[in-house]
Amino acid sequence: GRKFFVGGNWKCNGTSDEVKKIVTLLNEAEVPSEDDVEVVVSPPFVFLRMVKSLLRPDFSIAAQNCWVRKGGAFTGEVSAEMLVNLGIPWVILGHSERRLLLNESNEFVGDKVAYALSQGLKVIACVGETLEQRESGSTMAVVAVQTKAIAERVLNWSNIVLAYEPVWAIGTGKVATPAQAQEVHYELRKWLHENAGAEVAATTRIIYGGSVNGANCKELAAKPDVDGFLVGGASLKPEFIDIIKSST
Ligand code: 13P
Repeated sequence: GRKFFVGGNWKCNGTSDEVKKIVTLLNEAEVPSEDDVEVVVSPPFVFLRMVKSLLRPDFSIAAQNCWVRKGGAFTGEVSAEMLVNLGIPWVILGHSERRLLLNESNEFVGDKVAYALSQGLKVIACVGETLEQRESGSTMAVVAVQTKAIAERVLNWSNIVLAYEPVWAIGTGKVATPAQAQEVHYELRKWLHENAGAEVAATTRIIYGGSVNGANCKELAAKPDVDGFLVGGASLKPEFIDIIKSST
């Protein structure tokens, strides 16, 4: 089976004190064993070291981005090598906020995923359509093109978690219905089957993100192709614990 995966994307939020509070909340929580649920939190770069030193060992950590290739003269960027050096196992790549606000192309995201994997990082790779794309009926075409740019550059999917995050559901309180999420996850798995093979399709976790909260997580988690969540706003609140428990 595919181990349930719950990521907390803290985005560009928090002070040192607030981060310490969240970590304390997580450290004191009673949650299922790491054999059953994989929990990964993603603080801003400046808090990675602190979170790494404080966070319980059964939870893991992701950076929210990294540079597309080897480091060097790239002011303001953080390289995959640096994350590895700091002992950060995961990175989120291709988040829609970066695709849309910072113009990251499918190819750029694909190159980032390939390079991060080559350095030994595990990757949460994000795809998802805008409201306009959904309303014009191109949801599956959009997420397939986004996934293809990754699949063309990556042969080994064992260190990738695919996050389906419809842009219209992110930060809007407008969560996808369980049926809407299941439909896209099913289609994505079928796409993986046809383009990356049966083994990749059967084993790759496809997680949902977009207005997941303590109240809607159980119904989503019950869908057969929903293998977990990437949580934004609610990952900064106590209800994140309920989301971690949603599969059990
Ligand atoms: P929200 O949970 O705040 O909608 O954000 C989802 C997201 O973008 C996670 O990466």
